[in-house]
Amino acid sequence: MSINWFPGHMAKARRQIEESLKKVDVVIEILDARIPLASKNPMLDHVIGDKPRVVILNKKDMASQSETDKWLNHLKRQGVYPAAVNGKEPNILKKIEAPVVEATREIFERMEKKGINPRAIRAMIVGIPNVGKSTIINNIAKRKVAKTGNTPGVTKAQQWIKAGTKMELLDTPGVLWPKFEDPEIGLKLSLTGAIKDNVVNLDEVAIFALKFMQEHHLAELNKFYNINIDSTTEIVDIFDAIGNSRGFKMSGNEIDYERVTEKVIYDTRDAKIGQLTFDLAEEI
Ligand code: GDP
Repeated sequence: MSINWFPGHMAKARRQIEESLKKVDVVIEILDARIPLASKNPMLDHVIGDKPRVVILNKKDMASQSETDKWLNHLKRQGVYPAAVNGKEPNILKKIEAPVVEATREIFERMEKKGINPRAIRAMIVGIPNVGKSTIINNIAKRKVAKTGNTPGVTKAQQWIKAGTKMELLDTPGVLWPKFEDPEIGLKLSLTGAIKDNVVNLDEVAIFALKFMQEHHLAELNKFYNINIDSTTEIVDIFDAIGNSRGFKMSGNEIDYERVTEKVIYDTRDAKIGQLTFDLAEEI
């Protein structure tokens, strides 16, 4: 589920995250591994400032593994502590804990030198809607703490969850808005379910998905829909091929383009066609 963001929501979300930031040693930014660029909030860097940060590429089970590896390397080169996870897998805590310990090592070493008693590392999770924040928090807490769904910013009284022996986590994530400005980012957000289907033109989303797969995942596309297109096939002919193959016809044997559009979007979104990453690491 996603919400429509208005300037008031954004200001509130930002304020609430700034408040929560005061309580934590480290921010865990959750991105969708399929769109590590498009799923970034435009101003989080500014709000976090110098605070240590861990970046989690979630939904790695739906993303291209080789692309995720490239992204992890890219993030490391940028001095960020990253990890790639499937938010639903067991033992997620270990995968998140390791970069969190690394990111906060200096702070805790300094505290130790000053003779301050060691305490748990305090962390909060932030990210745009639908990247898997609640799933990860619930997984770590081993119970349902955060509401799955989205409200701007942090809404209820926050509590600390014990996350293993080294970490404490705020039980409510910071919810930030996605980027709206760039149309291609909108298409990627829609394709991964981060924004509502009624705020974008679905034809454009399906065309974007098909062109992307035609260029980068032709074999998977052909196999999944049992079609035989090549890198030069016109987009309308791809729609026709899928419509014919799936039998999406209207009266008069016309292709039902609306059904093809929906099918392509849902098959892509659910990673049925393959594990696809739409933000390619080499493009940055
Ligand atoms: P939030 O809005 O950031 O809190 O996102 P949610 O935790 O509500 O997750 C959004 C959707 O993504 C839900 O349907 C989750 O079940 C699903 N989801 C979360 N993490 C993963 C993951 O790693 N892999 C897959 N396949 N689905 C996930």
